[in-house]
Amino acid sequence: MFKTIESEVLKQAISPELRAEFFQHDFERLHGFCLLVFCVSIGTWFLFDLIVSFQAHQGFSYISLLFLAVFFIITTLAALARKATHFYCLNLAFVLTFALGARMVIEGIPSDVRQAWLVISASTVLYSATAMPLNRPAFFAVLLVTWILLNPLLGDVPEFDVRRSMLICYPVFISALSVYIFHHLSQAKLYNYAMARLLLDQAYLDTLTNIPNRRSFMARVGKRLADDGEQRYLAMVDIDHFKRVNDTYGHDVGDEVLTRVAQTIKNEMKDFEFARLGGEEFGLYLWGISAEEAGRHMDKLRHAIAEQPGNPSVTISLGLAHLALDGSLSQALIKADQALYDAKHNGRNRVSYSP
Ligand code: GH3
Ligand code: MG
Ligand code: MG
Repeated sequence: MFKTIESEVLKQAISPELRAEFFQHDFERLHGFCLLVFCVSIGTWFLFDLIVSFQAHQGFSYISLLFLAVFFIITTLAALARKATHFYCLNLAFVLTFALGARMVIEGIPSDVRQAWLVISASTVLYSATAMPLNRPAFFAVLLVTWILLNPLLGDVPEFDVRRSMLICYPVFISALSVYIFHHLSQAKLYNYAMARLLLDQAYLDTLTNIPNRRSFMARVGKRLADDGEQRYLAMVDIDHFKRVNDTYGHDVGDEVLTRVAQTIKNEMKDFEFARLGGEEFGLYLWGISAEEAGRHMDKLRHAIAEQPGNPSVTISLGLAHLALDGSLSQALIKADQALYDAKHNGRNRVSYSP
């Protein structure tokens, strides 16, 4: 089953909207981790800066203070960032500052080990970037900035020294490895996200009518109940003589009628919760309005369905129940069902209210 769904997801092209949603989701999930990486990087840079400065008998300089101030500003802005795209820019600014800072520290160490330290610093930045929630342009911008500012060949490397070929080969290797890891990690995360979305949609949407199902209704209304105060109502909707539609026109036409009714409910009740509870029964949950207004909404829906274009036309009966402050959702469902029963027995195509 898992493999079937997985191949289904992999077959589908991932839309740009879903991709953008994923990048935002990935950023929100890893926001704390990003800040931790920033803080650890600042701490490490500062430690190296102090070691190099004090070994050269320079002490703490105002340039270090300037770098710390810039790091602090970028990290604070990153902590406040709420959009993935804003984070991409701040991350690039951080990498730029870090690379400049690292270059400054490396200038202070003996020249024969400088190239090695430039490669170590660049590799560390790239390795961290593979785990960050970045999109492709943001990652490649980091790659570019890192090698421009931490390029080991910019130092005084002799033209035909064996180190020169090593200093070319290793950065090429580490860059290729980082690109490979970044690509595969973000692809895997994207497909996982797409699959989770598909499974959630399947679990919470009714397959025939494409509106929320009973599971979704119970979860969403259950979550709302505590905040909605006194003015909250539950309604049960049932199509009148639906068996006749199936018997006269066939099950397929019955399905079309169900889809049509669901679409009208979706249009009319867009400000409230609605779902197909099963068969030809629908549930509605309304809040923040008076009982009269709730009744008016029910009548409007009843008319909209009776006047729907298309053949065969159907009518609905509605049971509307007030949800008491101390009442539970299941009690309200029983009450609404009772009101629906009254509407059916009083001639159908009507609303019955249970206060
Ligand atoms: P009433 O006015 O008393 O509600 O009469 P009714 O004929 O609608 O009675 P009832 O609610 O018992 O009938 C429901 C029918 O809905 C029975 C079943 O065949 C049909 N039904 C349930 N689910 C589906 C579905 O997914 N598609 C179709 N086409 N029919 C369905
Ligand atoms: Mg029924
Ligand atoms: Mg019915």
